[in-house]
Amino acid sequence: MKQQLTDSKSVLILGHPGHELRVLGWMKAAKPWVIVLTDGSGHTSEPRIGLTRDLIDEAGAQPAELLGTFTDEQIYKAILDQDFAFFRQIRNDIAAFLAVKEIEVVVGDAIEGYNPSHDLCRCLIEGAVAEFQQTTGTTPLNYEFPLVGHPAVWSDHPGSECYRLNDADERWKRERIFEYARTVGGTLLTEVESFLEEFGPNALVEEWLTASQSAASLAQYKQTQPYYETHGQKQVEAGYYQQAILFNEHILPVITALGMDLA
Ligand SMILES: [Zn+2]
Repeated sequence: MKQQLTDSKSVLILGHPGHELRVLGWMKAAKPWVIVLTDGSGHTSEPRIGLTRDLIDEAGAQPAELLGTFTDEQIYKAILDQDFAFFRQIRNDIAAFLAVKEIEVVVGDAIEGYNPSHDLCRCLIEGAVAEFQQTTGTTPLNYEFPLVGHPAVWSDHPGSECYRLNDADERWKRERIFEYARTVGGTLLTEVESFLEEFGPNALVEEWLTASQSAASLAQYKQTQPYYETHGQKQVEAGYYQQAILFNEHILPVITALGMDLA
């Protein structure tokens, strides 16, 4: 991995607490500031931001002020209400943070069409980086990593960098992942177990960061339904949600309001 990615002033920007488990080795090496938009609470789950705060401390990284500030419910409500001011404020806060901390490397969620909070987190990152560039004239390195599937799924993309954990750090990471998942329980524990079953124990050794490009793929969702849309519609039919978040109707106007232009 480029030395710059571990030796610079960096920030990790996540939609949910727990995403850091995917890049725990890098987090321990680079000791970034950490921004997490939501607290991880849901209809049936307690906030888990405290677990993430502990991990940040243990890795020697630093919590930003914007850490578990919102609930997913607030984010969803702001999307459905088309509350553009809400998202612009977060973008501006992140941009101001980048400037104050003189950030050189940004790492965060990617667009995968899996979860609206993940995708919006990436859009907020892109918006904040653009604003930071305009006001300071400097361009930070901007990286993303997958939250769904194998960590190396984008390893052949241009600008991909691998952080390889040593044995001790890999053990530490494995223990922390299971501790986190056991404490949270439910879906997360199932996801961790099926991740290791499907990809094998070696999937934890390599962490891949890819130069941000997923935002360029957003336009595909104008035609192809993202996973969260079909999933949300099923949840509505089952009576769990009142309204599903739709890309064209709800997400696209928010993205446009953040200044992103999907050709
Ligand atoms: Zn998530």
